[in-house]
Amino acid sequence: MLSTTMAIQLQGRCVCNKLQYSLSLTSLDDARTTLCHCHSCRRAFGANFGLTAKVLIQMFCYDSGTAKKHTQENGVTREFCDTCGAFICEYGKDAADKFRYVMWGTLDEPEKLAPKGEFFCKHRTEWMPELHGVFHKQELKE
Ligand SMILES: [Zn+2]
Ligand SMILES: [Zn+2]
Repeated sequence: MLSTTMAIQLQGRCVCNKLQYSLSLTSLDDARTTLCHCHSCRRAFGANFGLTAKVLIQMFCYDSGTAKKHTQENGVTREFCDTCGAFICEYGKDAADKFRYVMWGTLDEPEKLAPKGEFFCKHRTEWMPELHGVFHKQELKE
């Protein structure tokens, strides 16, 4: 049952549905969606930027399946499905016990969490326009 303090439930899943998770938010503003143009995100997402929604770790919970984890040299850990390979969430060393950066596109209704900013804009691809009305940082996604 929904508690009064966690009024919004969002569901997400990997490509093959083995990993399923929920976000429990008090308000949609509890999630901070950002683009990140850094090279680590670029490679992991296989795209010109990464797109994640940052939530407190206690707001994120797996409902089904067990994620596999991989930590890369820069200390970023990504959790993913060992069947279909889809990334579900990521976090740096310092964020590991505090936050989860959830891969935006794995949510069932990602449009509910609109972007609030962009990180590592210094690595933005030339053909990628800036989003309007959000913050822009040259580096720094902690
Ligand atoms: Zn899967
Ligand atoms: Zn990044």
